[in-house]
This record gives sequence, C-alpha cells and structure tokens, in this order.
Amino acid sequence: MNLKSLQYYDELYICAYCAYCVNNQASCPTYHSVLHEIVTGRGKIITARNLAEGLLDSEEGLDALRDGLFQCTFCGACEENCIVDIPLTKVYSELKTLVQDRLPKDTYKLFEKLDKEHNIYGLDQEDRESWSFEIEEQYNEWVNLSHETGFFLGCVYSYSGRAERGPVAVLKLAKMANEKISVFSPSEYCCGNPFLLGGQKDKAKEFAEHNVSEIDKLGIKNLIISCAGCYRVFTIEYPQLLGKELPFKVISHMEYLLSLIQEKKLIVSNDSPLKVTYKDPCELGRHCGVYDVARDLLAILPGVDNREMSSHKEKALCCGSGGLIKTNHPTIANEIAVRLISQMEEQNVDLCVNACPSCLLNIDENLRLEASKIKSLDIAELVLNRTKDS
Ligand code: SF4
Ligand code: SF4
Repeated sequence: MNLKSLQYYDELYICAYCAYCVNNQASCPTYHSVLHEIVTGRGKIITARNLAEGLLDSEEGLDALRDGLFQCTFCGACEENCIVDIPLTKVYSELKTLVQDRLPKDTYKLFEKLDKEHNIYGLDQEDRESWSFEIEEQYNEWVNLSHETGFFLGCVYSYSGRAERGPVAVLKLAKMANEKISVFSPSEYCCGNPFLLGGQKDKAKEFAEHNVSEIDKLGIKNLIISCAGCYRVFTIEYPQLLGKELPFKVISHMEYLLSLIQEKKLIVSNDSPLKVTYKDPCELGRHCGVYDVARDLLAILPGVDNREMSSHKEKALCCGSGGLIKTNHPTIANEIAVRLISQMEEQNVDLCVNACPSCLLNIDENLRLEASKIKSLDIAELVLNRTKDS
C-alpha cells in the first residue's frame, strides 16, 4: 500500500517506539480501558508503517488501523507525552482518510444525520431554538440581531436538554450586565467537528463556509463560543479549511464572563462556601492552550475554592467523550469518565465545573451511575449562581 504521498509520512519513521504515549502517567485514556496497543500513538504508527512496507495484509491492516483510530478520544495526551514531538493528532486525522470505506457503522449513521439536518442528532433545524424556551422573550429580541458580539452554540448546547442551562446562563448574565448578544440558532449548522474527526474535510469545509457566511452577514466581530470542540474547530480548523483568517475574533464564554466581572458590569456577591474542581476540556486545553482563564474566573468568584485534580492542565485526563468515541464505543467513554471521577472524589469537591457540553454530559451521566454526591455544571451556571440578583 502506497502511503508515501501522506503529508505526515516521514513522522511514521520518527517514532522511537519508546511507549511514552502508551503507559506514561496521564497517557492514553483508551489504552487503560481496552489494554490493546493498537489504540495508542505507537500502535497506530506501527500499524501504518507495517501497511506502508507491505508487512500487513492491507484489508486486515486497514481494519486494525480503523479500530485504533476510532477508539481514540482525540484527547492529545499522547502528543503531549511524545518524546520526539510527533504531531500525533494531525497524523491520526490524516490516517483517517485511508479508512473512509470502512468507517464504524455508527459513524456512517452520524454522517447521514449531519448531511440531512446539519446537526448530530438528526433533529429538525427549527428545534435548534428549543434551548431558549426559558428565556423566550429575551431570545426573540436577540435572535438574528445585527450586533458586534455574537454567540455560536453548536449542536450539543442547542439540542441536548441538560446542557442548555449553560447558554441560558450566558444570556441571562449578558442581560444583567446591560449587554446584548446576537444569537442565530435558525441558521447555525454543526461546526463540522464530527466530519473532521471522521476524516471528511470536504464536508467540514461546506459547513465552515456556511457558518462563517451567516456570522459575517450579522456583522459580528467578536464571537463567543462555549463548546470546546466548536472553539477548536473555529480557531484551528476553519482558517485552514477556508485558507484565510476569519473575519471575526473568537473568544471563550469564560473570557467574556470574566471581562464582564472585571469591568464591574456584573457583581458577584454570593459567597457561600463551595469546593469545586475544573475539568480542562481536551479540545480547549491541550489542543488550543486555553488553561488560565477558567482559573482566573473561578478565583474571582467569592466563596469558591478551586481544587485541582491530580492530573490537570496539560496533563488533564480526558472525560471520555471526544473523538466520536461516545458514538462508537460508549462503554469505553463511560470507563474513562469513571477514572476521572475518582480524581474528583480525591479532592472532596461539591462540584465539577465544565467548559464543554460533551464533558458535562458524559461526566454528569457517570456521576449519576456512580451515585456520586458531586454535581456537574457549566461554568456559566456557577457564575450565574454567584451573581447578585440571580
Ligand atoms: S489522542 Fe488520547 S485516546 Fe487517542 S491515542 Fe492519543 S492519548 Fe490515546
Ligand atoms: S511517545 Fe512518540 S516516539 Fe514514543 S512511541 Fe509514542 S509516538 Fe512513538
């Protein structure tokens, strides 16, 4: 099989086979569940090399490579640990293009939903507004507003029910601060992350073109994003897919809320004691390098004691829901979440604070399954809880 035309072909030969990406502390979360090396950085690189050299039957080899690539959460811990700095997540994205004719069946189903309805749930586009029922009057005033600040929600916040309290909190806080934000749920498409995670860049590019054009039409210059996956895709992938810089700046909802507090537009005064721990979302942390704003925001909230888990920032454990693994292998996703929860329990916290709806939902589900006393909230919900008049 000829893999020489791959952009990252040479990286396959840089690997030192050292296994730092396999069993180093805070390394591959999936490996600790499936205990098969094919899922790790080294396993996937060896398989691709063996395919390139004809040492593996191509059918069997591609099936093995597919299994490794789609049991990976795309958390980036292997890349963080790699002793020779191989850009492993980029290598995986490219290797996924080799297995397009043998994707996991649930990935095909997901792509059908995206093609038809432009969201990961296959629900009607008009249901994309359902997250806003609690603040209907405000939403109706702010939807499709031409304004310099906009808010892109993404599929999970829009449709999942439980996670919608995060964007509702952002809008309530913005109103309390006498701000306005343009929301454009009727014309939002999925950010395209699932297509990228499945190796389909052309489809992702179509969605990128649509979303950027809709945002540009409203004159938005600062775009708030509160989903870690959407944030990574807008800031890293869209400029590459579109071959140009975006005509607006992207900020996380944490950055926005922190600025409202620092400018004294929001008064945080509820100081009842609360022990929390912040879960660094992999796509915001390791992929985009956004670590400090969450800590700064928690530090400014009265009464909040932020306790770091033993693995945090660059070494943070994955929540288990990334890389389409919740779709294809939910049991693995749950096992990874349980290991993360044990780190929270060690800190004896009341609350896990999230900046990603996929983390929030997977952690929330597994906290309940484990009958844990810890609750899981979006960080915006916590800010609302600490704010005067909330
Ligand atoms: S990205 Fe995460 S899950 Fe995937 S191989 Fe690397 S460490 Fe393992
Ligand atoms: S850490 Fe890097 S060099 Fe070492 S085995 Fe993993 S991919 Fe190869």
